[in-house]
Amino acid sequence: MLNAQNLEAFYGDFQALFGIDFSVQEGESVAIIGANGAGKSTFLKSVCGQIKVQPHAVQFGGQPIGGAHPYDIVAMGIAMVPEGRRLFPSLTVEENLIAGTLSKRTGSWNLRRVYELFPSLHEKRNNPAMTLSGGQQQMAAIGRALMSNPRLLICDEISLGLAPVIVKDIYSALPSIIADGISVLIVEQDIDTAKRMTDRLYCFMHGKVALCGPSAGLSKKQISDAYFGLS
Ligand code: ATP
Repeated sequence: MLNAQNLEAFYGDFQALFGIDFSVQEGESVAIIGANGAGKSTFLKSVCGQIKVQPHAVQFGGQPIGGAHPYDIVAMGIAMVPEGRRLFPSLTVEENLIAGTLSKRTGSWNLRRVYELFPSLHEKRNNPAMTLSGGQQQMAAIGRALMSNPRLLICDEISLGLAPVIVKDIYSALPSIIADGISVLIVEQDIDTAKRMTDRLYCFMHGKVALCGPSAGLSKKQISDAYFGLS
């Protein structure tokens, strides 16, 4: 479904990604882990059209999308939950969710289903997003992405700045999203969470793939060695 082949990415003269080969299959959940500066966010930006890359270096459903406009990428079915959630702070929760429908994709996700998935958002639906707790903001950001009826949901660092119990709560929504036929790609700092929640994982190091394999089949040592550049 999503394929990157020999993907390179640059910030001006600075090269951040070096020949990344990467895939997410239909219905699959995949994690990217890696230390600060490994290139995880740059990879996501390359997929979501936030930085220019070679058109054929990223393909979705067989179509080249590298460097395409972010709006067109959402319209094709890729939804991103950005690091830091980036909600509209003064709009209500419900208005933020409705903003996710601007891509005009059709499907079964709507306000009712998002509220079923995250009941606390229903209670807060008329409150400004800025009054939500960090965990509720993360739920709202995921809900907004689901409102675009994506085929692939990308989440950048769900756990960032949240208490473990809240993170667990949010992650407990993932299986039903996947069961709905949506593929999921997460960037996750926590190796245990990445292993537990996904089918396959990639470890990035210095802009390259240092390790890739089935999450359950890789040992924690293999992963942490790749993470810290010891393998
Ligand atoms: P983190 O976990 O800290 O978010 P990351 O794995 O997501 O790290 P990236 O943010 O993709 O890493 O950064 C990869 C490399 O690109 C780093 O060396 C970083 O300093 C550099 N970089 C990232 N954003 C920019 C930018 N806007 N301009 C120049 N260099 C950048």
